[in-house]
Amino acid sequence: MPVIESTRAATRWITRIVPVILVGAVSYATFVVVGRVCSTFLINKRREVGAAIVILVLYFILLLLMIATYLRTVTTVLFDTGVVPLGPQVEERKKTESEARRQGRRGTDFESRLYYDGPDLDPDSPGLEQFYTKDVFICENDGRPKWCSECLNWKADRVHHSSEISRCVFRMDHYCPWVGGMIGENSFKYFVQFTTYTACYCGLVLGATASSLHKQVSEGSPLDAHFIAAIALAAFFGLFTFLMTVTSMRYIFLNMTNVDALSSRSKVYQMAVRAPRGTVSTDKFSVVTYPLPKEDEEEEQRNGRFNGDMGAGNRSGAGPARRDDLATRTFAVLKTEPGENPWDIGIWRNWQTVMGTNIFDWFLPIRKSPCANHDSHESFYPMGHVMADVLARYSLSGVAGKDSDSAGLEMKELGRRGSGNLEGVRIGN
Ligand SMILES: [Zn+2]
Repeated sequence: MPVIESTRAATRWITRIVPVILVGAVSYATFVVVGRVCSTFLINKRREVGAAIVILVLYFILLLLMIATYLRTVTTVLFDTGVVPLGPQVEERKKTESEARRQGRRGTDFESRLYYDGPDLDPDSPGLEQFYTKDVFICENDGRPKWCSECLNWKADRVHHSSEISRCVFRMDHYCPWVGGMIGENSFKYFVQFTTYTACYCGLVLGATASSLHKQVSEGSPLDAHFIAAIALAAFFGLFTFLMTVTSMRYIFLNMTNVDALSSRSKVYQMAVRAPRGTVSTDKFSVVTYPLPKEDEEEEQRNGRFNGDMGAGNRSGAGPARRDDLATRTFAVLKTEPGENPWDIGIWRNWQTVMGTNIFDWFLPIRKSPCANHDSHESFYPMGHVMADVLARYSLSGVAGKDSDSAGLEMKELGRRGSGNLEGVRIGN
């Protein structure tokens, strides 16, 4: 299994030093809470055995949960980051670049790029099928999915390229040096569990040491310097993890990531939404039909055999085609309004897509988030009411309503599946 780490040497070093710091801090906190607070102060000096037992039980439960979620997060970010595979041309590009370096040429200058890094124009481009077999996907103006010119591969919905690890990451959140890697959809749940348990753990350490210090002050007995040091440590890490937890919880309830949040007020999503065959481009939207036509078909298209007006992909209102006509799927290219979040499916379901559908999943770092499963034929991630609003805005319900072919029926079914991905979408009613 390849390890995915930062491409920067300095960051890699930091991520190796951090666990040592954390182990040191936790060992010290254990020494203070178990040794000084519970054993020396509460049990031996004040005979408060009950209070000491409560603190010890809570302490070790939280410590165990904190360690478990930390290890789960670290191993996930390193070994199961959730990255898009590199495109087949990446190896070729590496060879070209190393060849160029040997010859003393510089390939970094945009002018002297040694390779084409734009979208793969082959209609049968590997991976393209994963998009047009769904009912909705995020697309470019020409109806093709987004393309990563670094990974030389198609970018699924909510995928972002991270320059830190030089890979495209599913539902990318942020690079976290504390856990040594990129937090994405595979690790976000474990990460939130880790920050939550750590905040609770720090709260307990803070409470136990601060109350003991308070008792020493009121007794007028000499103060334990370890209590003061532990209070400072717990306050620092506690505040930090508490703020991380609050921010992450907010993103979970809104179905956003740190990356989404950067442009949440202005972001416009452009998506290819499956429409009935025969849907034609209008002045409001264009259509694209998959599989994209091969070159000879494109030629025919130019000669007027197909009555569309869009680039490579358009075969709207098509007659018999070379490719299996029944297997074609037509998509309308539609846009959201700025700031609309198509992934928001309501607080409760937003929570479930990340944290899981049962209470054990919420608390234990065992099963991956349901949103990491992209097998649905509807979309890469469930979509909410924004989809319905967008379709209504483009008056697509009317278009679909008049259609009676199989795609049209599918669209209608899509509308009826209230609890499905495209909740609330009503086409053809
Ligand atoms: Zn990429």
